[in-house]
Amino acid sequence: MKRIDKSYINGKFTELNGTEVFNLINPSTHEKIGDVVLGNETDTQKAVEAAKKALKTFSKTSIEERIEILENLKKAVEKREHDLIETMILEYGGTRQFCTMSFRNMAGSFEHMIETLRHFEFERKSGNTLVQMTPVGVVGIITPWNSSNSFICNKFATAVAAGCTVVVKPSEMSALQTQLIIECFHEAGLPDGVFNVVNGLGNVVGNEIVNNPDVAKISFTGSTQTGKMIAKGAVDGMKRVTLELGGKSPNIILDDADFEQAIPQALFGAYMNSGQACIAPTRLLVPQSRLEEVNRLVKEAAIQVVVGNPSNENTNVGPMVSEKQYERVQTYIQLGLDEGAELLVGGTGKPEGLENGNFVKATVFTNVRNDMRIAQEEIFGPVLSIIAYEDEEDAITIANDTSYGLAAYITSADEKHALKVASRIEAGRVCINGFKHDPLAPFGGFKQSGIGREFGTYGLEEYLEPKSILI
Ligand code: NAD
Repeated sequence: MKRIDKSYINGKFTELNGTEVFNLINPSTHEKIGDVVLGNETDTQKAVEAAKKALKTFSKTSIEERIEILENLKKAVEKREHDLIETMILEYGGTRQFCTMSFRNMAGSFEHMIETLRHFEFERKSGNTLVQMTPVGVVGIITPWNSSNSFICNKFATAVAAGCTVVVKPSEMSALQTQLIIECFHEAGLPDGVFNVVNGLGNVVGNEIVNNPDVAKISFTGSTQTGKMIAKGAVDGMKRVTLELGGKSPNIILDDADFEQAIPQALFGAYMNSGQACIAPTRLLVPQSRLEEVNRLVKEAAIQVVVGNPSNENTNVGPMVSEKQYERVQTYIQLGLDEGAELLVGGTGKPEGLENGNFVKATVFTNVRNDMRIAQEEIFGPVLSIIAYEDEEDAITIANDTSYGLAAYITSADEKHALKVASRIEAGRVCINGFKHDPLAPFGGFKQSGIGREFGTYGLEEYLEPKSILI
């Protein structure tokens, strides 16, 4: 059992001023696996001070120096592959399949930022004007518990590339994973004060980061509700914000698609990270005329879904991260029944033999109307809603009829045709024929799914202020 009782400030593991303790519970078994002492406002202020001091030198580093740092970070993370994956599985119950992919994204963040940096123009000409892209300043990084370290790595890699220093507030539920990442970065020999971490609660440490006048920008990943609070808080200091928020992504299966392949893929996709993924395709849109066939294919595929110990190679759905999240998913499944959606697979309660952890039954509702709450609200669990459409126009209307706009998916035998449909979808990312990730393409949400973009050139620009020098 591990106790995390220090913050990481100015390159040192530092005694905390805060005293409150948060228990870390294994979501698969409900056993205590450790605890974390939570930082407070004073700890956060110390971290911001260190980042501010380090910024003076770090903002002036050359591209070559930044590339070297990114290379060292990548190597240090790769060395701890085993520990990082095992800790993710233990701490938040991510499946081995998902945590392995998440680890690759972590290590990949540094490589992709190096690639971006090699081609990036920090000085540009616009007519007679010289435009310099200058570091925005101290960046406050606030992250959720799902894939926590991949967000920290991506955001920090971007900050390094831009010449910014950071203060990170991870989710209090990710303390063990974060500790490993701190150890990796410490080993990589970063200049003191470039990377600082304070564990703590959102309304204490997070709130101090948002309100501290020496923080120039907030890079946040989490729920839309918290994102709105952060945006409101940031406006007083006119802080820049990048907000990566929730989603309720549509998955449109066009009539010409290969249903035998597309429908099982849609089901497994909805269950990615046990349904605890912002980009999970949780609304499956299918032609009304083929609803019965879809229901049959979903039922057949559902037999293959393995719910259980996240450490097993073949598990598709692990536990929910916390009892609170378990209860939330249960409430939504009950709500689906109350709203009159037809339960096709799963339901309320725990799967047999898995009563000790936060396991929910992998669930599918069919005959869902898009105005039902289970179709409009982010459940963040393995619950898929099948919604029938009359024709393609209707499918596009339903896909866009949501307050979110993070991701969307289209399956069709005709890519050109799918592209036409994609151009009418209101989402920051549209994947055609499969689940894809391009770490150099801009990622972010339309509408209430966020503000700004991450990854590649678009992501880097968000950490920079353009300065026009008129000669
Ligand atoms: P959350 O919004 O509850 O918490 C996210 C972080 O914000 C945590 O570190 C939390 O402590 C902090 N926080 C809470 N209140 C705060 C406040 N007042 N001021 C500052 N910080 C505060 O989200 P969660 O439950 O940890 O994560 C799940 C959510 O994250 C889902 O909605 C999911 O869609 C979203 N998410 C989005 C993306 C994306 O890239 N768009 C990726 C992953 C997760």
